[in-house]
Amino acid sequence: MINENAETILSVRNLHASVEGTEILKGVNFEVKAGEIHAIMGLNGSGKSTFSKVLAGHPDYEITAGEVIFKGSNLLDLEPHERANAGVFLAFQYPLEIPGVSNRDFLRVAYNAHRKANGEEEIDVFDFDELIEERSEIVEMDVSFLDRSVNEGFSGGEKKRNEILQMALLEPKLAILDETDSGLDIDALKTVSGGVNQLSNDQNATVLITHYQRLLNYIVPDYVHVMAQGQIVKTGGKELAQALESRGYDWITAEQAVA
Ligand code: ADP
Ligand code: MG
Repeated sequence: MINENAETILSVRNLHASVEGTEILKGVNFEVKAGEIHAIMGLNGSGKSTFSKVLAGHPDYEITAGEVIFKGSNLLDLEPHERANAGVFLAFQYPLEIPGVSNRDFLRVAYNAHRKANGEEEIDVFDFDELIEERSEIVEMDVSFLDRSVNEGFSGGEKKRNEILQMALLEPKLAILDETDSGLDIDALKTVSGGVNQLSNDQNATVLITHYQRLLNYIVPDYVHVMAQGQIVKTGGKELAQALESRGYDWITAEQAVA
């Protein structure tokens, strides 16, 4: 939902980032306000995951220029856990497995760490169990998954549901979902989308990274951006995603060449 007067949640200006000396992001400009859903689309290798990992503070990436302002503060000054505690959430394209740690314990520790960082009291095991079982319903996840090791042996779709469960628990200000639709069958896609839609409100913002238009039938973005070679080269409304679906990406690169 677009409201010109809404609070700016994220403002990225001229962001350049490198990995092992190779520049991947080459001047990204991107702004997100409260209440908005943005989609970032683009071919494989265009820099979408790099952008999301840079925002989350992944240590492999070196920021060589530009700024990232999150809720008025310099995000790049914060450690990854501080970014998470401040309300930045990244659902990974490839969620990690943590053998030997139950999903329930993992989620409780994460949740309490957030509360503590935000000056709130930790909640006890019993209250947490009630909360997590209620949140599991948002993603239609069977509670038996709570007592398995984090993501271990989960199918692709189950891992993605689990990412959205983390999101439902942590209630981030800015959620970045990297290819959350990849590998999902249609039922899982609907469930995951339904969860994201339920969690989206006028106080938070969602950035969906995807290279398929399919997800955007279920989560309707306010803005669609195209990333190519480490820059956002085009921005439009939801109709841009449909144009990409029917025409591919070549015409955008051609437009770029002319400009
Ligand atoms: P996308 O998510 O759009 O498919 P990525 O951000 O994953 O693109 O990758 C952009 C480019 O950066 C690719 O050419 C990829 O090979 C390169 N890249 C990303 N991470 C690394 C890394 N850790 N080491 C070397 N190259 C990387
Ligand atoms: Mg990617």
